[in-house]
Parts: sequence; C-alpha cells; structure tokens
Amino acid sequence: MNSRLLKNTEAALLCTAVICLNSCFNKNAKSSGNQTNIVKETTIGPAGQEPLSAPRFQPGNQVPDVWVEKLGASSFFSASPISDDIFALMDGNSFKEGCPVTREELRYLTALHKDGQGRTFLGEMVVNASIAQDVLEILRSLYDASYPIEKMRLIDHYGADDQASMEDNNSSAFNFRPRAHQTAISKHALGLAIDINPLYNPYVLTTENGYRIVEPASAGAYLDRSADFPYKIERDDLCCTLFREHGFYWGGGWASRTKDFQHFER
Ligand SMILES: [Zn+2]
Repeated sequence: MNSRLLKNTEAALLCTAVICLNSCFNKNAKSSGNQTNIVKETTIGPAGQEPLSAPRFQPGNQVPDVWVEKLGASSFFSASPISDDIFALMDGNSFKEGCPVTREELRYLTALHKDGQGRTFLGEMVVNASIAQDVLEILRSLYDASYPIEKMRLIDHYGADDQASMEDNNSSAFNFRPRAHQTAISKHALGLAIDINPLYNPYVLTTENGYRIVEPASAGAYLDRSADFPYKIERDDLCCTLFREHGFYWGGGWASRTKDFQHFER
C-alpha cells in the first residue's frame, strides 16, 4: 500500500494539520551544490604581527575550535532574509509555485552544531520568520551543550527529496511539496516544523492490522526506542526540553498511531 495514502489518511483521522507530511519520493536527489559564504573575511592578529585571515567557512564545513574561539561562536549564528543566491537554490526545490508562504516570510539561518564525534560544523536551515529567533536560540543551546546533530544542510542540496535527506541523517525544516487531494498543510511547508537527526528518529505509522510504515525506510534499526544508540531523541532530553520551552510540540509524543520522533513544530 502506498505509504503516502496512509499518511494522508492518518492526518485526516487526527483532524489536525500538525502531521509531518514533507516526505517525498523524488528520485532526482543531488549532492551538495551551490553554497553561500557565511563568514566574511576577517583579519585577526596581535599588533605588530602578521594578521591571520579567517577561512571563509561554508555551510557543511567543519569549523576548527581555534576559529570558533577567535571569531566567537556567536558570529556563526545568524538569521537573514533569503538572499538571491539561496533563493536560486530553493526555487523549484523546496520553494515551488503555490507555496503557502512567501520568500519574505522565510529566514535563512546559520548555526554551529557538533556531530557525534564532537566535531563542530557550520549548519544552515530555512524556517518561518516567526520562529527564526526561537530556533536560533535552541540551536545555540544545543551547540553549547554539545548535543549531537550530525548534518544541517538545506534540503535543496538533496533536490528537496525528504527521503534522501532523512537517510543522510540531515536535519532540516522548510520544504513545500504540493500534492493533490491533500487536506492538511504540512508545517514544513510553512517553515514551522523542524526535523532533527531523522535517520535515528524516524516517522512511524502503525496501521490497524499492526503493519508499520517507516520513513526513512532504512531506519528500521531505530524503531526500538528503549534501545541505546546515538542521536536518539527522547521525551525529556535537552532537544525535546528546549523545543518544548520555546512552544514547540514533539511528534514523538503524539497520542496516535503516528509517531514522528524527528519532528518538532509550532
Ligand atoms: Zn517533520
């Protein structure tokens, strides 16, 4: 049975527009493409010594601790209008005709995040302007606490293919995918939902006959939520706590046959 139909059916049963419906089966995923400079060239050095030029860090780049210290972690956290370069990447991918939000209603975020090995990376995310500051604060707190987030790239680098992004354990937010006969608008289409470490925190729908739909399909090893594994989101962990404190709901706590352990929305 088509899982999309099941998801839509589940959404109707929930009588709510809060279900994560951003998955798709676009086979045209592409690897990381255009990137935008985030950190302006900076010169730092003691008086009388050769100044050191800061690297121009790109989203997806590892950022050595020495540069975090020199530049200050705060300099990597930003929220800005969608630039022409970023919109060119989004247009036709996450942003399509019929999108329920305008480009002006969205914000491009940059943030530092640490992976499971403690390495620091520069991440990026597009969210609704109304939650941009909250999300920045959450991401900053997660970074400061070394809460592991493996990847944080725009879903456009995956051709807006949610399956590909999830399988790559990529955390992302805004993605609009028009569908016929869809009654519930995904909060991802509004930029009001964020998926964190999705491979280890899958979407799971248990049907009436006990059959389970899992997205991404490769996440079967992470269905046992009592097991111990990296990147697992739990009800009272720091990630859930911070999102809850900022007024978000966690999909892993939904009292229904649908659990979406990666999903936070407002
Ligand atoms: Zn989601």
